[in-house]
Amino acid sequence: MHRRTRGCLAALATGALLAAAAGTPAHAAPAAVPDGLRQVQVRQSLLGTHTWYQQLYHGLPVLGGYYVTHTDAATGEVTVQDGRLDVRGLASETPGVAADHARASVAGRVGGQAARSELVVLPGASAKLAWVVVTRTGHGTVRTVLDAGSGATLAEKNLAHRATGTGTVFDPNPVVALQNESLTDRKDADYPALRAAYKTVTLTHLDAGATTLQGDFADNVSANPVHSARRAFDYNRSQRGFEQVMGYYNITSAQQYLHTLGFNDVNNEPQDYSTTGLTDDNSFYDPDTDQITFGTGGVDDAEDNEVIWHEYGHAIQDDQVPGFGEELEAGSIGEGFGDYWAFTMSQASSPDTARTPLACIADWDATAYTDDEPHCLRRVDGAKMYPGDLEGEVHADGEIWSRALFDVNGALGRTAANKVIIEAQFGFAPDTTMPAAARETVKTAKALYGQAAANKVRAAFQARGIL
Ligand SMILES: [Zn+2]
Repeated sequence: MHRRTRGCLAALATGALLAAAAGTPAHAAPAAVPDGLRQVQVRQSLLGTHTWYQQLYHGLPVLGGYYVTHTDAATGEVTVQDGRLDVRGLASETPGVAADHARASVAGRVGGQAARSELVVLPGASAKLAWVVVTRTGHGTVRTVLDAGSGATLAEKNLAHRATGTGTVFDPNPVVALQNESLTDRKDADYPALRAAYKTVTLTHLDAGATTLQGDFADNVSANPVHSARRAFDYNRSQRGFEQVMGYYNITSAQQYLHTLGFNDVNNEPQDYSTTGLTDDNSFYDPDTDQITFGTGGVDDAEDNEVIWHEYGHAIQDDQVPGFGEELEAGSIGEGFGDYWAFTMSQASSPDTARTPLACIADWDATAYTDDEPHCLRRVDGAKMYPGDLEGEVHADGEIWSRALFDVNGALGRTAANKVIIEAQFGFAPDTTMPAAARETVKTAKALYGQAAANKVRAAFQARGIL
């Protein structure tokens, strides 16, 4: 995916003064400029020539300091914009922090590849040296200004042009939003009883200039992808765009949540997803193509955010551990984590009621294939025990794992539990077992939060017979 980035070191200062220069120099001759400038670029326009300079101080660029001459092609008249800044009191012209250390520290923190660094002067009455470090990341180029004496971060900006749009979604799904277990698919119709479940939301992280659902964290690869020049993606469930918006919105929200937990490098890329091509009432994540495909049988799977989050759970684990979950027990952990991930994402937006308990997964999708109420694809609060209740089927056995994670969530709280659970998964073997994965999770809890937290996590796994 192409990302356009912008930004020159001269970081054009605001409040530049426009100063008209006197005189009419000869047509072809470049305008005379003061000392202490380095020419950056020359541009010809319809009406003249525009020559840009970087302000220097003892040979070092002054951050934000610039000077530009505009030479009128017809008259030769030169107009000057003088954006030079005051530099006083610079104590040293030798950086305390080495360039490679500055680059490495930023790259490690923001999760990316160091591209370059340049020593500059921060202007002002007590000017100081700074490193401008440029780092390429999966979500755009990041420019950081570091104090060259202390190494402290002074400013940071992602240069990628990001855009927001709006979209219409179900969040939460109609069954939960309307607290009504009698709603059904009715062949994808947009019928009146569902109207109150629609919500308008902001779609963030869209690629700038794009009129499609493509962004930092989600990439709509559906057949017949929807377009909107105004980035207003408003459809009802009977229209193909609705599921495409649901996919974009919920995949993006999951990745944003990982960022809030401090994970900047867990599936931190545009996740391909398709809402077309599969007419089964099923969805899947394909690790070979790194794509999620949502089926359209029954309730379209991408109409239910918990189905989207379940599949994204697979994408998370596959990103953390290449080849994760191909053996039966690791596969069961994968399904259990997917259900848990759907549950914990819903914790942010869904009420936990007697009619629609949070532990019930895919309440809307499940209206198409379950009779009992509440309608649940599966639950994460079941009573299955390891190893006695193992059936040798990954989704069924996954309910043992998801219940353990549900209990960890209850014991540590959502944020701490999810930091432990995601962090621990980095240490899972691709063919791990439930006891081995549980031990890794206990160990991680101890490392992050201490022995008392580790004891609570161990108790959750012991309650399932896993430890
Ligand atoms: Zn699954």
